Amino acid sequence: MEIPNSPVNSPCHSRKIPLWLVLLDNIPTLLLFVLGFIIIYQVSFSWAIAFGTYAVFSVVWFWAKICPYCHHYDTFACPCGYGKISSMFFRRKENKSFRKVFRRNLGIQFPNWFVPLAVAVYLIITAYSEPILYLTISFVVIGFIVIPVISKLVGCRNCEIKEDCPWMTGIKTERE
Ligand code: SF4
Repeated sequence: MEIPNSPVNSPCHSRKIPLWLVLLDNIPTLLLFVLGFIIIYQVSFSWAIAFGTYAVFSVVWFWAKICPYCHHYDTFACPCGYGKISSMFFRRKENKSFRKVFRRNLGIQFPNWFVPLAVAVYLIITAYSEPILYLTISFVVIGFIVIPVISKLVGCRNCEIKEDCPWMTGIKTERE
């Protein structure tokens, strides 16, 4: 059923993001999780499993807590495909603003970046080896350069709702 004046009825939401862009958005993130798992595995297999489980949980959390409030929910206009996946498991929600929900829940993703980084620094200090160094460099390049650059310059660059998105407009300057 169409909702009058709803952004979901906007013509831009009939747009279909090409598969290459969906892959470009997801493959580096998957690679980040794999590298994070390998880094933590150098310390403990159990911790690596816990990290992998958390990474999957954080993505499902994103589908459950953020995507249902987004204009791209249940459309092919979502640059990473989450909007469609979210709609298969979670119902649309409109009782809060997308900006607030995004800001409140994005932190669930931070451990995916900072826990492996902390473990990598620990390993470099306590058990330095060239493979550890290369793993760390790969992780930093993908997590802190490649993923943000793809989001800002490709995936989210032409998004019609980027003005509503704290990721594009600056999380720190967000107001209630
Ligand atoms: S644009 Fe972001 S918040 Fe919106 S549906 Fe896609 S992944 Fe979810």
